[in-house]
Amino acid sequence: MPLTHTADLLERYFLKERLPTIWCPGCGLGTANGAILRGFEAAGIEQDKTVLVNGIGCSGRTAAYLDFDVLKGTHGRAIAFATGIKLFRPELTVVVMAGDGDTLAIGGNHFIHAARRNVDIKVILFNNFIYGMTGGQVSPTTPAGAKASTAPQGYNERSFDACKLAEAAGASFVARATSYHVQLLSKIVRDAVLHEGFALVEIMTQCPQQYGRWNKSGDAFDMLMWLKDNAVRSEQAKKMSSDQLADKFVIGELVRH
Ligand code: SF4
Repeated sequence: MPLTHTADLLERYFLKERLPTIWCPGCGLGTANGAILRGFEAAGIEQDKTVLVNGIGCSGRTAAYLDFDVLKGTHGRAIAFATGIKLFRPELTVVVMAGDGDTLAIGGNHFIHAARRNVDIKVILFNNFIYGMTGGQVSPTTPAGAKASTAPQGYNERSFDACKLAEAAGASFVARATSYHVQLLSKIVRDAVLHEGFALVEIMTQCPQQYGRWNKSGDAFDMLMWLKDNAVRSEQAKKMSSDQLADKFVIGELVRH
């Protein structure tokens, strides 16, 4: 897939007067945003026929810097707003861009029912395993044993696998990439946009400021290397046993029907 030069992305899609972003140095959201825009470009998305619906928190700023029609939802309601827009204006491409806490905690009901109904919206889920902006609290994707401001001794509950949850609820397109695997991310964003029906793209991304600090995960580079070293491509995963996959996560296209 041909990749657009960063300078061209900035010129075409960014509201330059709003830059720089509020994100911490080393945050994965900027890299992810670049890859998403390259995916939009490859899908031939039209800016005046596309609505981006943001959630709250750090990832709730991803659309704020972009030259699209943007709706900023209240906590957990981005998918509900997006569903309304799509029902009223079905000709528009509607993309939700929201974080793990926002989408899977208070927004969890909207998430599973939009997947069940196969609403033709695209959900880009930024998963950094923690609430970043609001102070490092546990989220529904915080791994068991990980530390956070609300679990300083280690979290003692199980976490959601957002992709499995979406698949079980009936999503017709599910894929995962990371802020390290940017070319894969652009490709699956392109495919999600072109897919008719509910599409989930989960992006595992580093939050060095909160998750990294609480869990002594090193700096942003170390966290990116962790994403690189623990990801298994979906084609490779099919040849591996469940024991071999136990501490890994699968990236690529996971569901399409
Ligand atoms: Fe990124 Fe975490 Fe900083 Fe938020 S708190 S901007 S997610 S590094």
